Amino acid sequence: MNRTVSPLLHDYKPAKDPKGKSIRPIQWFAVGLGLPLLGVALVLSVKSTPVDHPSKSVAAAGANAELRPIGSQIASEPVLILADDHDAGGAVHEFHPPLFPSPSEFDSIHLTVRSGDTLDRLFRKNQLDLGHLAMITRLPEAGARLRMLRPGDELEIEHDNGKLVRLYRKLDLTSALVVSRNDDGFKAEVIDRPIEIHRRRAYGRIDSSLFESANSAGLSDKLIMNLAGIFAWDVDFVLDIRTGDDYFILYEEIYQDGKYVTDGEIVAAEFNNNGRTFQAIRFADKGGRSDYYTPDGRSVRKAFVRAPVDFSRISSSFNPRRRHPVLNTIRAHKGVDYAAPSGTPIKAAGDGKVVFRGVSGGYGNAVILQHGGNITTLYAHMSKFSATAKIGQRIKQGQIIGYVGSTGLATAAHLHYEYRLNGVHRNPRTVELPQADPINEAYKEDFLAAVQPILDDLLQYKRTQIATASL
Ligand SMILES: [Zn+2]
Repeated sequence: MNRTVSPLLHDYKPAKDPKGKSIRPIQWFAVGLGLPLLGVALVLSVKSTPVDHPSKSVAAAGANAELRPIGSQIASEPVLILADDHDAGGAVHEFHPPLFPSPSEFDSIHLTVRSGDTLDRLFRKNQLDLGHLAMITRLPEAGARLRMLRPGDELEIEHDNGKLVRLYRKLDLTSALVVSRNDDGFKAEVIDRPIEIHRRRAYGRIDSSLFESANSAGLSDKLIMNLAGIFAWDVDFVLDIRTGDDYFILYEEIYQDGKYVTDGEIVAAEFNNNGRTFQAIRFADKGGRSDYYTPDGRSVRKAFVRAPVDFSRISSSFNPRRRHPVLNTIRAHKGVDYAAPSGTPIKAAGDGKVVFRGVSGGYGNAVILQHGGNITTLYAHMSKFSATAKIGQRIKQGQIIGYVGSTGLATAAHLHYEYRLNGVHRNPRTVELPQADPINEAYKEDFLAAVQPILDDLLQYKRTQIATASL
C-alpha cells in the first residue's frame, strides 16, 4: 500500500501510556481567559500532512486536527490543544493523593501476585511475620478478600522489620481493602477509591481500517470497539467501511490518584460512512436505564445488526482496497459472504430461536434462526457450532452461535449469511430493519434538554476540525 503519512495523525493527544505514567508535554500552556472549565491545556505542534481526498472537507479535517475546550472560539492557529475539562454534568472530582504518602517511617513492599502464589508464600519470601498473617486472615472483612489472589493482583505492604503495619489491596476500580495495625491487633476496612472523570474529544479518519485509524489517533481498542458497538445496527463494519469515512467522539476517561486508568463511556459520537451520517448520544433516564439514541430520541438499536461476525477479528487486518472481490460475490447469490479466518465467532443477528442446526448440502454446517415478524436468518459453512445453539434454544442478539469455516461448497473460510422476510430473500446489507423502542415518552423532554449541549459540543468540535483543515 503506498500510503503517505496517515492523514489520521495523532490528532488530539499523545498516545497514552497504559502503565499510567504521566503524558510528557512538549510545552505547557496555561489557558485563562474565557475558559473557566479548563485548568491546563497541552499544546503540541502539528505538521500539515497531505490528504488523499482534499475535495472532501470533512476528510481533510484529519490533516490538521486539534482538540478544543468547550466554548473556545479560537480556530486558526496551527496547534493541537489537549483539553482536560471536567464533565459537563458539573460534578467536581477532587484529587486524591496516593494512599500511602511517602516518605513513610516504615519500609514498604509492592508485591505483584504470580501464578501459584499464596499470601503465605509471599509473606515467607519477604520475611514478614506469619503470626500477623494468621491474625489478619481471621478478620471477617479481610479473610475472604485476601485468600482469593489472582495473578497480576497487587498488594502494598508496610512493615517494621517484618512486623506488619499496614496492607493495602485494590479490590476493584472504586474500592480497596486496608488492613492496619492498632492497639488490639489489626483492623480491616473496605475504603472507597474515588475516580475522576475527564471528558475528551477525538477525531479519526479511516485510511485503511477502523482499528488502524484508532491506533493512529491514539485511541484504545476498547474505545473503538464501543464506537463500533454503538453503530453496529446501522453500519456493517466489515463491508461498509470506506477510505475517507471519519468519526468524532466525545468520551470519558477515568483517572484515579491523578493517573489515567481506563476509558469510560462514549458520551456522543458521529460516524460518517460513505456519504451517510449517524449520530448517537448516551442518555441515562431516571429509571436507571442508559442507552444510545439519535438526536431526535430514536434508539440506535434495531432488532438486527448488520454484520453477524465478530468484525474485530477481521478488520484488524482488513484492507478496503482489496474489498471489491468480496463485494462482487454478493450479486452471485442470495446472501452476503464475510471472508474471515476460520474460527471467527459468528453472532446471532437478532433475538430468535434455533430452528435448524446441522449439515445442509452446499451450506455445510448451518444454523437457521427464527425471529419475530416472520424473519429468518441463516448462517452457513461453519467449522463448528456453539454448544448453546441447539434446536429449540432461545438465542439473544450477539450471542455466539458458531464459528467461521469452509464446510459445504466453500473454497475458503467465510460466513455465508442470509436474511429472509416471509420466506423471501432480502439483501441483509440494505433491508430496512425493524426499529427498537424509541426513548420512553416520560423521559423525552429530559432527553431533549440534556442532549442539546452535548450535540452543540460535538458540532463545535467538528466545525473546528473542518475549519482548521480548510486553512
Ligand atoms: Zn455465500
